[in-house]
Amino acid sequence: QNLKKYFPVKSSIFRREPQYLKAVDGISFTIQKGETLGLVGESGCGKSTVGRSIIRLYDPTSGSVIFDGTDITTLNERELKKYQRRMQAVFQDPYASLNPTMNVFELISEPMKIHGSQSVQERKEFILDLLDKVGLKSDHLYRYPHEFSGGQRQRVSIARALSVTPEFILCDEPISALDVSVQAQVVNMLEDIQKETGVTYLFIAHDLSMVRHISTRIGVMYLGNLVEIGGSNEVYTNPLHPYTQALLSAIPETDTMNEKRERIILKGEVPSPLHSPSGCKFRTRCPHAMKVCAEIVPPMMEIEKGHQVACHLYGN
Ligand code: SF4
Ligand code: MG
Repeated sequence: QNLKKYFPVKSSIFRREPQYLKAVDGISFTIQKGETLGLVGESGCGKSTVGRSIIRLYDPTSGSVIFDGTDITTLNERELKKYQRRMQAVFQDPYASLNPTMNVFELISEPMKIHGSQSVQERKEFILDLLDKVGLKSDHLYRYPHEFSGGQRQRVSIARALSVTPEFILCDEPISALDVSVQAQVVNMLEDIQKETGVTYLFIAHDLSMVRHISTRIGVMYLGNLVEIGGSNEVYTNPLHPYTQALLSAIPETDTMNEKRERIILKGEVPSPLHSPSGCKFRTRCPHAMKVCAEIVPPMMEIEKGHQVACHLYGN
């Protein structure tokens, strides 16, 4: 609720006031238990910062993160540890997040040892089960990260996240670095795991076509703000925000689900989050910008049931 994450920027001798990079600038949304919320937007829009603030890898600057009824931004370290078992993460680059000197057994054991108290034998049986679930074989147990392909390494990361039976998994671009042929396999596997365990996902991607099939709902971010959120099909077939419309028009026609859309080319670059425009932050690139857009920040409004947008073209 109203989540903000500002990073201080080194001030120069010419500037007395401290400057802040407003990576996440007041975002509110809900993720229902067992669903997948897809979060999309260009790189630098703040989507990873949202994810990391939710699982408390970052301390939010302000706002709250309510997990299963508890505001976890107010917990002390000991209380937080209980919640951190329930929230795990899978990142884009499994090579960077897997310690190269540990084998699969050690890698997956690590979070289990922090959060549980099984014997080595119990852990081993549990991990063999997990490997099967993520499509790896039992003889992979004592292999090291460099012996695997990118897709297999991502399977190890997913098994590691699952090892502490989390209820929520932050998936931060987990398939972006994988070959197209492997992407679908990993997405299908994540879906199967969700069907079996009822786990909730926040699935971050820069591309709408990547999240469409796995997401129950989709949120679109621009420069630290949420500009649109709604059911996956509604957002995809009836995008309301001019930025969402532009993102969708960029998806190539080979995507058979995409009926012919005219390509919308956005002018200019994404402004720096250090100097974001007044009013609607998208106005410097919006083909529909009006006078009011420079003056008033458009509030989030529900246009159809469950489909919200922040844009002056809607409402009255
Ligand atoms: Fe464009 Fe104005 Fe809507 Fe912003 S509020 S997206 S500038 S029309
Ligand atoms: Mg990112």
